[in-house]
Amino acid sequence: MKKTSILCPQCGRTSYNPNDIEQRYCGHCHEFHEEMFSTWDPEKLLNATGMEIQTMADDHVTVKMDINIVDLLAAVGAMQLACRHPGYTGPSKLTVQRLISQLAMELKDYPALVELIRRGGIKDYDLTDREYQAFHLVRSSGPGAEQDGG
Ligand SMILES: [Zn+2]
Repeated sequence: MKKTSILCPQCGRTSYNPNDIEQRYCGHCHEFHEEMFSTWDPEKLLNATGMEIQTMADDHVTVKMDINIVDLLAAVGAMQLACRHPGYTGPSKLTVQRLISQLAMELKDYPALVELIRRGGIKDYDLTDREYQAFHLVRSSGPGAEQDGG
């Protein structure tokens, strides 16, 4: 569904000009919307963000993207690290943990990877610096180096 109007987040005026809608531009402020935000103070930006998120929630907006598995696992690792921080509590932590669990279910055809993701959420499985270095030494010598042929 194509937008037929655009609301300026700065002055609150509505434009029905297709060019303004396409470019996200305000003819009254003579500014592109994206440029406005860079100079806003944090409170004003948070208020605008809150309104955008509420609008998206009301419209049941979802985000779909294709991401390669290596990049995705890097993001999962970063999320698991954040979840283990003692100061990270509350509902967003539970949401992140739920997302990781759902991802693991999507990857159920790769059980070793699912187990690795599960362990990534448990501090007891952290590697010491020495173990991490040893892991990288083995890896950098190539997969053939680990095989003894027998
Ligand atoms: Zn404006």
